[in-house]
Order: sequence, then structure tokens, then C-alpha cells
Amino acid sequence: MNSLPKVTNLISVDSFVHNRQHMLDVLVENMDGLVYCTLYDDYWTLIFASVGCKELTGYAPEDLMFNNVVSYEEITFEDDRQLVRDKIDDAVATGSRFEIEYRIKRANGEVIWVSERGNPIYNERGKIHAIEGIIQNIATRKQIEQSLRDAESRYRSIFENAIEGIFQSTPSGHYLMVNPSLARMYGYNSPQELMLVLNNINEQLYVKPGRRKEFVLEMESHQNIQNFESLAYKKDGSSIWISENARSVYDEAGNLLYYEGTVEDITSRKNYETQLEYQATHDTLTGLPNRCMLHDRLTQCINFADRYHNKMAVAFLDLDQFKLINDSMGHEVGDHLLLIMSQRLSACVREVDTVVRLGGDEFVILISNIDNLNNITVTMKRILSSVAKPCVINGLDYLVTCSIGISIYPDDGGDPSMLLKNADTAMYKAKKAGRNNYQVYTQELNEALAERVKLEFRLRQAIENNELLLYYQPKVDFSTGLICGAEALLRWQPPGEEMIGPIKFIQIAEETGLIDKIGEWVLIQACKQAKAIKEKIGAPLPIAVNVSPRQFKQPHLAQTIKNILKATQLDPECLELEITESTLIDDAAKFIDTLHSLKTIGVKIAIDDFGTGYSNLAYLKDFPVDRLKIDKVFVNCLENDPANLAILRAIIVLGHSLDKKVVAEGVETENQYDFLASIGCDELQGYYFSHPLPESEFEALILSHYQ
Ligand code: C2E
Ligand code: CA
Ligand code: CA
Repeated sequence: MNSLPKVTNLISVDSFVHNRQHMLDVLVENMDGLVYCTLYDDYWTLIFASVGCKELTGYAPEDLMFNNVVSYEEITFEDDRQLVRDKIDDAVATGSRFEIEYRIKRANGEVIWVSERGNPIYNERGKIHAIEGIIQNIATRKQIEQSLRDAESRYRSIFENAIEGIFQSTPSGHYLMVNPSLARMYGYNSPQELMLVLNNINEQLYVKPGRRKEFVLEMESHQNIQNFESLAYKKDGSSIWISENARSVYDEAGNLLYYEGTVEDITSRKNYETQLEYQATHDTLTGLPNRCMLHDRLTQCINFADRYHNKMAVAFLDLDQFKLINDSMGHEVGDHLLLIMSQRLSACVREVDTVVRLGGDEFVILISNIDNLNNITVTMKRILSSVAKPCVINGLDYLVTCSIGISIYPDDGGDPSMLLKNADTAMYKAKKAGRNNYQVYTQELNEALAERVKLEFRLRQAIENNELLLYYQPKVDFSTGLICGAEALLRWQPPGEEMIGPIKFIQIAEETGLIDKIGEWVLIQACKQAKAIKEKIGAPLPIAVNVSPRQFKQPHLAQTIKNILKATQLDPECLELEITESTLIDDAAKFIDTLHSLKTIGVKIAIDDFGTGYSNLAYLKDFPVDRLKIDKVFVNCLENDPANLAILRAIIVLGHSLDKKVVAEGVETENQYDFLASIGCDELQGYYFSHPLPESEFEALILSHYQ
């Protein structure tokens, strides 16, 4: 401290107590940094510098003192010199303490940051005398500050430029901070605007009410939230899908400060997902829900019916002529037709009902909330008539109808697959019932169908196994009382079982096509029998054979019959074909044509079950037929319904006026016989005279009759 006496020359030391002086000396010398006293001059001439000078500046205190080697002004970093001088000038002028941060250039040329704190010293006259203070190295602190600033700016850049939205929000639903990306995402011009306008997250952000509450609850229980997907409003009222990831931030005492997190706009992903889901669950052509969706919807309807204790219906619908149109007119027309049909179906049901396209021309309609089966009847009738209206495609009219099968929940099944299966079964019945109609599933229907399948299988084998046989029922001429012919009636005798009547299996044979084979067999048998009888009694006795509608439409029927007559060497007039009136329904002109071609062979023809069909009587004159067989219903009810008497009379008059013989079927009583005789009926057939008989009994009857 050899420079100290010089200072004490200048500054009064009266006030210093000696021991205190010593203490201060020790303190000053041990202090980090440069404790100094300078003159208030252009060089900051140091008149005292503590030993810390060396550490701070790299110069020994004596090098700097009195500007021995270098002045303090010189080592002050050039750019900062003015700043230092200005600050100290200010302090001197106001008589206050100062604190400055600036750089100095150390002896080794290194520039470091220092902090200087000091105060001006005045003499008794108030004139500035010197500056006293301490200068400390703050390089480390400055470095930390700089790296903090760097870090801060790096993070700020992430915050400002992130693609994701970033936010801090209070649990009560205010934003503390949002980044530009979030503002953009929500349609605001700036974060400031967003925070100003969207000041109640609870009510303004989420489309779904209560969604923010779910967010907060999740935060409360897990302190974070992941992939929280919601529909959110934008500033303009439109909405976007967002996914949020967030966490709770606490202070050291564990108090919740705020939530912070990120937001991602997932609208396009959601749309894509929705689109994918839509494609997977909807039919591309018609836009209707598809098979995948059916199970779900049906389960929903069932649950609904359970909850409200009512019923629901599953209608299985199949277009009747679609395949034909699609195959013959091309898929483009087919697709167009399906589209029109799907629109018509949708228009026929209520908003709450579901129309599903199963594929091809099959649809399923789910009708919920039905308390009364009549409701369905009305809907089904509406559908039938709507579907049956003509469709104009490319200027051409197309007509299609549909067949519908209905099952009811819970009556006809307790689960989706059962209901669908039973509706399908009922639809099958509708097809069999002639299409363009609907059928309701019942347990009996199911049993009948099962029975049918079994019968069909056995019938196929029946022909091979020779289980079929013919019975013959004689016909009697009213005028002579003699047998004038017989009708061949088919029977099926499965071994060891009861005989099966034709009512039970002719329809199946007809539908499955087995009738072709069976019909031919019947014709051959009947012709052989007619031939045998003729030989036995020496006179022709015509045998009548029933020809089913399908058989009648066979293109080669006339040729087949010709061949059979030839093979059995039977005169054509000994064979009569019975054709039911209903065969003519489809195409009267074709019907008449076929009758003519059969007639040219020379066989006889009878219209069977006359009176029950809906034939236009006007056609009758064009029918080249020999007989009308009055259906047995008119004969059976003859006694108790006067209207039948009138009908019978009318048919006989009509038949005779057209030069046809009239036969009455099902004559069972004497009374019926007498009445028919009295009104001029030509022939009779019925239990009154004889039941249908097995071949041998029939032969015996004929032989005894003609002896
Ligand atoms: P269908 O042609 O009307 O035959 C007359 C039916 O009336 C026969 O019934 C006969 O047994 C029955 N019948 C005769 N007299 C009386 C009577 O006094 N009272 C009553 N209630 N019924 C009487 P079946 O033999 O059961 O034949 C039923 C139907 O099956 C026939 O009705 C016919 O449409 C059809 N069918 C029979 N055989 C053949 C065949 O070989 N081919 C075809 N395609 N159909 C046949
Ligand atoms: Ca008949
Ligand atoms: Ca008949």
C-alpha cells in the first residue's frame, strides 16, 4: 500500500479510525476486482489501484497508476469509452452513484466485460476531486446471459415458426400465450387477435359442448393429455379437426400454474378417414349403406326396439327381372336401373329407416318402430308399386318388379343373422308366389320350406326308382250313361310309405323343371294304357292327360307327343290334353298358336278347371278346344249357393254355343248329377260314379262295363 500516502495527501483521513483503516485495507486487497481511485480527467488517471488490478486487466497496479505504462482510458474498449464517460459525467453532475457495464482490453489483448460501480468524491468546496469505486470481471455472467439470450431466441424461433400450434392456457379457459401458427390455424390474423377474441375456451373453441370439461378432467387425473381429438370452431364459424397434446405446469409449491401444449390440424386426416370409412361402409354405385354396415344398423335397430318395447322389420328385397335386363342390355343400363331403384326405395321409407344394398339386385330395408303390422303392409305396397313403375333409360322403357320377404323382431328371430335368414326365406316364398309381392316369415313357412327341400330331393329319385304310377278316373256320358273316357291322374308311392297325391308334388316338379321328365313319362304311360284298352274292348276310349303350364310351353311339345303316339301306335283321337285356363295368362297369342299346333296332330284338347282362371271369354271362340271342364268348386257348392247354379248354366250355354262339350268335375251326389243332367251338361267325372282307380281296377271296370 505504498501509494496510499499519496491519496491521503489529497483526501482528508481525519474521519478514519486507525484499526478500521487496517480492516478496510485488508478487505480492499482481498476483494475480487480492481478497487480504484481515479482523477476526473481525460485519462482516468489512477491514483490508487488494488492488487486485484493484475487479475482483472493483466497489468500490475503500478503499470496503470499515474498512467505509468498505460492509462485506464486506453484500456477501456474503444467502442465503449464514450458510454463510460457519459455515465460518469452524469453521476458527477448529479452527485450520484453510478454503475456501468462495458468492455476493457486486457494486457494480452483479450476483450472482457466488466462492471464498474463507483461514486464521485468532492472537496470541501464541492468541487469534483476524484472517482472511487470497484471494477469487476463479469465475463462469465455475460456469457451466461448471452447463452440465455441465444437459447431464448432459439426457442422463440421454434415457438414463432412451429407448424404446430402452441399454447399456454389457464384451467379457467383463458390463453396466456399462443403462437402465430395456432392463430393461423384458428383463422386469426395474429396471436394477439386470437387472445383478444377467443377469451373463453370453454365456450368458444369446441364444437361439442362440454369438450373442454373433458379436457380439464383428463388433465386433473393424468396431468397430461395425448392425441385429444376434437372438432373446433375457427374465427369464421367453420370448423376443423384438431389433436391436442398438453401437460399441466406447477410451481415449486405444487400449485397448478397453467396448461401448455401443442395443437395439430388433423382435418385432412380426419376427412380421409371419414372418406375411407364411408367407402368401406357404403355402396359405390348407389351411395347406400352396404353389407358391412348392415350388421351394425340392424343391431342398433334391435337395441332401439328393446328399449322402447316395440317391433322392427327386416325386409329382404330382390328385383325380379334385373338379371335378364343386365345380361341382355349391358351393365351400364343395369347400373342405371339399380341407381333409380335405390332412389325409389329410399323415397318409400321414413328418414329413420335404413335401405342397404347387399350387392347385385338385393336390398335390405330396416323399418324400426312398428307397433302394428299394417304399417308394414302399407310401406310394402308403396314399395311394390314404386318399383314397378316404368324406368326410362336411354329413351327405352324398362319394367321391373320386386319380391320382398319380411321378418319381424322379436317374433321371427332375436339376432341379426336369424332375422336376415328368415327374411330371405320369406323372400324366396314371394318369388315362388309369382313375384311382385311380399311375404311375411312365419314358422310354418320355414317348416314348409324345409319339407319342400326334402321332397324335391326325393322326387328326383322317385322317377329313377319307378315310384310313380297312374290312376285312372272314368268319365261318363250323361246321355248314354256309358263310360266315354278317363283322366290319368299321377300318384307317387315311395316304398313303405303312404301314397303321395299330385297336389303335394306337381308344383315342386313344375318349379324345378322335373315336370319335363315326369310329364313325358305320364304321356307314355297313358298312351300305352289307352292302346291296351282299345285292344281289349275293341273300341277307342280316349284318355285325358294333364299338361302343366311349363310343359305346355316346351318348344318341342307337339313333336314329343307325335313321337309318343307313333311309338305306342295310338290313334291321336284317343289322347286328350287337359290344359288349365291359367296357362294362358302370360301370352294369349302364343297359347292359341300352341293349341293349333297340337290340334293339327289330331289329339283332343280340354280346358281344365274352367271358370277359375281369369281368361278373357272373348278368346274362347279362338280356342281350338273340344271340351270345357267345369271346375269342381262350382259343382261342390251347387246345393247351397244359388249363384253357382247360374254360373253352371251359363258355362253350359256358352260351351254349346261355341260347339264344345262341357264336362262337370267333382260330381259327388245324386242331387248334383240330376241338376247337371237337367241343364244339359254333356259328361261327368266324380266320386258319384267312381274314384280314380289303380290301373288293374280301372281295366277291370272297363271290361265289365263293355261286356
Ligand atoms: P285336376 O286336373 O282338376 O284333377 C281332378 C282332381 O279332382 C283329382 O285330384 C281327382 O282325384 C279329384 N276328384 C275327382 N273326383 C272328385 C270328386 O268327386 N270330389 C273331389 N273333391 N275331388 C275329385 P288329384 O288326383 O289329387 O289331382 C290333383 C291335381 O293334380 C289335378 O287336378 C291336376 O291338376 C294335377 N295332376 C294330376 N295328375 C297330373 C299329371 O299327370 N300331370 C300334371 N301336370 N298334373 C297332374
Ligand atoms: Ca285334369
Ligand atoms: Ca280339374
